[in-house]
Amino acid sequence: MTERVITDERSLSDYTAVVGEECIEELRLLAEPFNKAKVLHINATAAGGGVAEILRSFVPLMCDLGINAEWHVLRGADEFYEVTKTMHNGLQGMQVPLTPDMKKIWVEYNSLNADFLSTNGDYDFVVAHDPQAAGLLKLLRDSNGHRKIGPWIWRCHIDLTAPQPDFWEFLRPYVEVHDAAIFSKSEYFPKDLRGPQCFDIPPAIDPLSVKNHLLLDDGEVHNILVRYGVDPDRPFIFKVSRFDPWKDFCGIIDVYDLVRKEFPDVQLVLAGGGAGDDPEAWSCYQQVSAYAKGKGDIHILWGDNGIVSPELNAFHQAASVVVQKSIREGFGLVVSEALWKRCPVVASDVGGISIQIAHGESGYNVGSLNEWVEAITYLLRNKEDAARMGNAGKELVRQRFLITRLLQDYLKIFQTLSN
Ligand code: UDP
Repeated sequence: MTERVITDERSLSDYTAVVGEECIEELRLLAEPFNKAKVLHINATAAGGGVAEILRSFVPLMCDLGINAEWHVLRGADEFYEVTKTMHNGLQGMQVPLTPDMKKIWVEYNSLNADFLSTNGDYDFVVAHDPQAAGLLKLLRDSNGHRKIGPWIWRCHIDLTAPQPDFWEFLRPYVEVHDAAIFSKSEYFPKDLRGPQCFDIPPAIDPLSVKNHLLLDDGEVHNILVRYGVDPDRPFIFKVSRFDPWKDFCGIIDVYDLVRKEFPDVQLVLAGGGAGDDPEAWSCYQQVSAYAKGKGDIHILWGDNGIVSPELNAFHQAASVVVQKSIREGFGLVVSEALWKRCPVVASDVGGISIQIAHGESGYNVGSLNEWVEAITYLLRNKEDAARMGNAGKELVRQRFLITRLLQDYLKIFQTLSN
């Protein structure tokens, strides 16, 4: 039932220039015991959002290490994605109801997808990503007494700081049958989770993906900005992410409204789109567009699975400040991606964002409206400091949030689970 995603090849030796030879050699050593091991990553969508972004690079890099890694996506339909998005919202603390019908739909689709694994279950390691895929293992076992061969890992990417109890209580028995659970921060470990060994491992970005690597010349940047109606001669604040209520696009419009009192020239560019498993994005985009009316020089850009390269690169290269005003955020790849491009970043001090920014050194982690306005206006006024922080941000990402570190962490977990 699941569908395999085919990715482009990647070679780890290309990363030597970014992380050094020692790091690559260490990875190859760590991977030796897992030569030809069959590893399955399974998530809800191949298009849009952070998990797909990571797997598109991570799976081929695992293959380059000699591991037989595959990426599959669950098959689903609108009713399943409606339920899983509501679960995502409930688990991040939104007050939404969890009905018996929703539970039934979630179980049905997890069972259908589990059928595939009952006939192809000879994986040495399975990594099931997020609540969407959390039911597979238990349902496999319940339905046909499936003999589990290798360890199963549940990888949770969302912000579990304050889940709505109904949702977590429903999900918990499904998660508890796993051998391990990975969260982006130790603060997300659920206190009542019994069974899986918990690991705290932040996600990471691929420094060599086109999005993170491509450098445009000034003429190309200029042309793209003009094509989207943005004035290249005036500063702009930039935000890119899925159109999702948790990303608080309207909140950043409120901030902009105050910033432009001091900087009447400044523009705001909001870019984003949806994901294959996110039914809320289009309505969120429409709400944001309506909210922006009459509030200054705001440009709102939509792409079905988000704004892509080279446009994304052009906006990052030309932005004066990049912002990410999330209410909850499991990690937020967009922050590390912007820092990697040396952009000065101002972001909410929440969830996984907080660990990506050294406040005052490599950007600002802020909370109140006042702090937001102060941080942005400071960076607009002090370009040298902004550049210094952008440089510091890039170094922090190099040390902690690159995909080579993530590979290392997974290989160490495989080692632990094999013992
Ligand atoms: N993204 C993109 N274009 C867009 C919006 C998002 O390429 O218009 C990408 C973004 O660069 C990042 C991913 O989608 O790689 C979003 O991951 P993140 O962890 O920030 O948030 P999520 O969508 O998973 O909540």
